[in-house]
Amino acid sequence: MSVWKDVPKGPEDAILGVTIAYNKDENPKKINLGVGAYRDDNGKPFVLSSVRAAEARIQSEKRPMEYLPVIGDKEFLSNSLKLAFTEDNEFLKNDLIASIQALSGTGACRLGAEFISRFHKSSTGMPLVLMPSPTWANHPGIFRDGGCEVGKYRYYDPDSCGFDLEGCVEDLKSAPVGSVVLLHACAHNPTGVDPTMDQWEVLSETIKRAGLLPFFDMAYQGFTSGSLDIDAGAVRKFVEDGHRVMLAQSFSKNFGLYGHRLGTLSMLTDSDKEKMAIESQLKILARTIWSNPPIQGSRIVNEVFKDNSFYNSWTEEMSRMANRIIDMRKQLSDKLVELKNPRDWSHITRQKGMFCYSGLSPAQVEAMKEQFSVYLISSGRISMAGVTSANVEHLATAMDAVTK
Ligand code: PMP
Repeated sequence: MSVWKDVPKGPEDAILGVTIAYNKDENPKKINLGVGAYRDDNGKPFVLSSVRAAEARIQSEKRPMEYLPVIGDKEFLSNSLKLAFTEDNEFLKNDLIASIQALSGTGACRLGAEFISRFHKSSTGMPLVLMPSPTWANHPGIFRDGGCEVGKYRYYDPDSCGFDLEGCVEDLKSAPVGSVVLLHACAHNPTGVDPTMDQWEVLSETIKRAGLLPFFDMAYQGFTSGSLDIDAGAVRKFVEDGHRVMLAQSFSKNFGLYGHRLGTLSMLTDSDKEKMAIESQLKILARTIWSNPPIQGSRIVNEVFKDNSFYNSWTEEMSRMANRIIDMRKQLSDKLVELKNPRDWSHITRQKGMFCYSGLSPAQVEAMKEQFSVYLISSGRISMAGVTSANVEHLATAMDAVTK
């Protein structure tokens, strides 16, 4: 009699399923559009040369490998906050930002959820986090497992393949006071639909009037437009507008440090006392989850920040990654026009970041797989990182054929 006989098998991750099916396919023209990590124009994973150089320097110094403090590497935290908020930010200058190193963006969101569940109830008496519909597939689970109730607000408009500002504002206006609003700072996953700065202005005002707390998830700073400043525009605007934002930062995409699990959770506070109290609670939470964060990623980022030539090479390569994706969007959309496909595909270039919500139906996605060996998840989300100069033609041909 087995102890575990009653454990049911959980469902497979949808994206993993795509990759498994792709790996089995023997068609040389097959394309995997499920990948959640950057690929270069040869379809290969990419390590930034600044990261390699920083790694080599760290290696040559034969540093000890002892635990980092629970709060993380102080120099890294300072670099991370400067990156998000800028060096001139008043909260940063006055040391009013509570922060902790976290296990990448996922860990930062989870720690934020744990913190909210203990210290920020909404008027319903429960900690409530509202997320865009749709949102990154992991968000609901992260916040629910972190002890929060999870709700939705309207975000994506399938008719325009764009942002539903009116629906979003209506939902936020009627949200319980004290709800947390989860916002994607840029490169909304999975839709690629970002509000314009004018629309952020409306959201900022609405969120303030409704007495809600903005929680930004910034997983793609610099990787979206190629500019660190443009991509942090919404976060910085909300700070200027007086919001006490919570922010989850990830270094997976912009530094390519995926497996190093490097991120930061930060919160704007109103006094030194508040900042110290919040950090003490964040440390208590982190202590029982991962105890101390990993050491290598923060060392790499610190080296890059310290050395001007590393820093310049980093921003240059980061912007090259962003621009490759922007260029692939353009090539894909141009090819569909060339093929005289009757649909309006202008959202392909309007949407931003790694993902494109193509508007393809589940049946069309299935047909792309069956007839063309093009693999993507049934929502029609295309990972633009999987598109290259060599396969964009085949992809356009497949999209054209299944939509005509
Ligand atoms: N938030 C969003 C919106 C994401 O797309 C991702 C990456 N897929 C993450 C957070 C977290 O990634 P990581 O844990 O690697 O930082």
